[in-house]
Amino acid sequence: MGFIIFRLIIFIGIVWVGIRLLKAYNQKKLESQQNDEAVQQQKSTDSEQMVQCRYCNLHLPQNDAVKHESLWFCCHEHRDHFLDHGPEQR
Ligand SMILES: [Zn+2]
Repeated sequence: MGFIIFRLIIFIGIVWVGIRLLKAYNQKKLESQQNDEAVQQQKSTDSEQMVQCRYCNLHLPQNDAVKHESLWFCCHEHRDHFLDHGPEQR
């Protein structure tokens, strides 16, 4: 009888360790997933970088901006105006 209880305790111990390992594994997986999401958010903010129109000083995402050499503009009209007349006079 004592032998059966001993085996039962060993069995419970093995199961307990197994559950602990599984939880630790899941935790690590979760953390690496969160890291991936953080990296992806970083990437998306990089591509969504804000630039300033050289003509009207409007801030807009780089994706929506018009680029001319190293200068950024909010639209083609402002790019043409800037190239023809320089920055907006205030
Ligand atoms: Zn503009």
